[in-house]
Amino acid sequence: MAPMIENEDAAAAFGILADTTRIAILRAFARALEGADVGSNDPFPALAFSEVYDRVDVDSTSQLSYHLEQLDGTYLRRTDDGWTFTFAGESIVRLVLSGAYAGDVDFDPVPVDTPCPICDAEALRVVVEDLLLFWACEDCERRMGGLPVTPAQVRGRDPEGVLSSATARMVTRYWRFRENACPDCGGAVELELQESAASVDALEWTAVGCCRQCRRSIHGPPSIWLVSHPASVAFHWDRGVDVRTFGFRELTGRVTAGRWGTNRVDAGEYRVTYRLEDAELRLTVDETLSVSSTARVRTDPSGDPD
Ligand SMILES: [Zn+2]
Ligand SMILES: [Zn+2]
Repeated sequence: MAPMIENEDAAAAFGILADTTRIAILRAFARALEGADVGSNDPFPALAFSEVYDRVDVDSTSQLSYHLEQLDGTYLRRTDDGWTFTFAGESIVRLVLSGAYAGDVDFDPVPVDTPCPICDAEALRVVVEDLLLFWACEDCERRMGGLPVTPAQVRGRDPEGVLSSATARMVTRYWRFRENACPDCGGAVELELQESAASVDALEWTAVGCCRQCRRSIHGPPSIWLVSHPASVAFHWDRGVDVRTFGFRELTGRVTAGRWGTNRVDAGEYRVTYRLEDAELRLTVDETLSVSSTARVRTDPSGDPD
């Protein structure tokens, strides 16, 4: 078990933020960026005391000094150029701007004609609960996905847009977990291959990743986990397919159709395969999905490989 941050320290740090003036001070740094070109790639700027004072509604300079002292060290720090964000200050202001602190988002369930990868149902519903997007099956009552959605992501997008913005990150999320860096907090990840409880042959194996720090978890067939491996990206790209753009439907469809699969070849050794046209890519992996070798083989397009 990883050492937990002391509750008292966290409570003290968050306690500092329980003040509208201090939130306004932190937002002033983001507001200073408004109107900046997207291409400028400016970091949040350092602001002189007078620049903060101009942007925040406080009664006096001494009141502003008091609040800056409170934020000093945890959320802001003093530099020669003025006040600037610490990592925590920047993270908090991004959280504030995304609206992710403010309860659930408004998202009416959307029916999609994506078949259920677990049972025979021909359609699923996309739902958002507790800021997580799921594909829900009414027949087998499974929920799949669990992709984080923020209010910023829903704002100004129709349901289709929300869906594609969430699924665009699917392959990337697996990749980040596989690279041992939680996509949400950067923490180290524990990865384990399990024999799947699903009754579908194609889903015989499933890999589960869990962040040791924030406990965010993700699961799915090894072929989905490894689709972003360079050997797979190149194999598909050579045949005109960009797998990095695949969403839920494209990924699960290939697994349930048996074109992507996983077999155990030995104790602690597995083969993950991708079939496309007259070729097959084979990745040899261990139980942490670390790839030890790759091979492309020709197959008979009309039948099974080998
Ligand atoms: Zn189902
Ligand atoms: Zn995490």
